[in-house]
Amino acid sequence: MRIQFDRFPGGRSKALTLSYDDGRIHDRRLVGILNEYGIKGTFHLNSGFFGRDGYIVTEEVRALYAGHEVSAHTATHPFLELTPRERVVTELMNDRRALERTVGYPVRGMSYPFGTYNRDVTQLLPMLGIKYARTTVSTGRFSLPDDFLQWHPTCHHRAMMEHGEAFLNERPKYNRMQLLYVWGHSYEFDNNGNWEDMETFCRLLSGRDDIWYATNIEIVDYMEALKRLEFSVDETMVRNPSAIPVWIGVDGLPVELAPGSVTHLTDENDG
Ligand SMILES: [Zn+2]
Repeated sequence: MRIQFDRFPGGRSKALTLSYDDGRIHDRRLVGILNEYGIKGTFHLNSGFFGRDGYIVTEEVRALYAGHEVSAHTATHPFLELTPRERVVTELMNDRRALERTVGYPVRGMSYPFGTYNRDVTQLLPMLGIKYARTTVSTGRFSLPDDFLQWHPTCHHRAMMEHGEAFLNERPKYNRMQLLYVWGHSYEFDNNGNWEDMETFCRLLSGRDDIWYATNIEIVDYMEALKRLEFSVDETMVRNPSAIPVWIGVDGLPVELAPGSVTHLTDENDG
């Protein structure tokens, strides 16, 4: 039996996630497009700017981003690597606190303001309840990060079509999990007058059985659950201690491991 960690939920091997920063009013139109196509995004918000000219208001956050993920981006968008440690803590905890009061769930992720950070900043994050932090470094690849606290996306949305097409056509020789991760700012579509690019992208990538449409934190939680699997020495038994189902590849076929239970991997699992 050959066991591989190569499956997302539903046994799929591909996942798509979007990540949008700053919480400007153009998020309204962007969320509308995503909802129309059933694509999920994560929105990194600066709670200190709510209600300012051009920014969304506190009262609309919960309903606007329902079905997507609200995530931190600090309260007031400083360069974190140029900021005293105490202020980094305050910026993130204030942002989390304000966002959580609005959305009604723990906020557990962030993107780095200006995309900048250093090791001191990154090392603080787990103690502040932050599970992942997105950078602005494009990899051009569909791989999952080694370190979710330096989560490099596939591309900025200006390159989403070429990477979207490559993603759909990707047929790796050996099955593996592939993630297309696109980031940007909704106001860029307004500035550049190219909202139709987002529509085209969503039309191309949406409604596919072989793609898991996920928020950033759903991917982090899933990968964590995958890592928590406990195997018997002979690899015929596996316990999933998490609260969500996890899929693995067994001899090239997807097998679902129910939450909180032990699965016996035999021939009858195949299929
Ligand atoms: Zn920003």
